[in-house]
Amino acid sequence: MRQRAVRDQQRLDSGTVSSPKDLESLQREIVSLAKRQGDLEDVVLEIMERREGAQERVTELTARVSAVQAKLDDALARRDAAISELDAEAATLTKDREVVAAAVPADLLKLYDKLRAQQGGVGAARLYQRRCEGCRLELNITEVNDVKAASPDTVLRCENCHRILIRTSESGL
Ligand SMILES: [Zn+2]
Repeated sequence: MRQRAVRDQQRLDSGTVSSPKDLESLQREIVSLAKRQGDLEDVVLEIMERREGAQERVTELTARVSAVQAKLDDALARRDAAISELDAEAATLTKDREVVAAAVPADLLKLYDKLRAQQGGVGAARLYQRRCEGCRLELNITEVNDVKAASPDTVLRCENCHRILIRTSESGL
């Protein structure tokens, strides 16, 4: 379009176009071409501005993605560290349990394991201030008297939840 405008201008300047009608039409075309060129330049400018805006948004979003990724990496690293810690703790507890279990008579251990499976993972409970800490129920007076009368070797059971009751100095007997 620019080339056409230049060509028109050259024809006009050369003086080869002599008819007034042709001259007029040539001039009109030059004016029209100039206007269209102006319009197109405006469009190009607008596109460039929009492209700049889009580029800024891309930069902003890229930064946000990086920030979120960094947070995610950090959270994953902390999760992995926590898992390692828990694995190590579980290994220690498993070893501790083996040591304790080896010292418990076989039939008592069997009873404990059975109760533990039945009672949501807790097979034995502390008797604390006359209360079974497994089911939280307080022993009635008859039960308290039975516990008091039992020898230290007797395996006591909670009447309510059947868990093995562990007597301590705080049992309230
Ligand atoms: Zn109980």
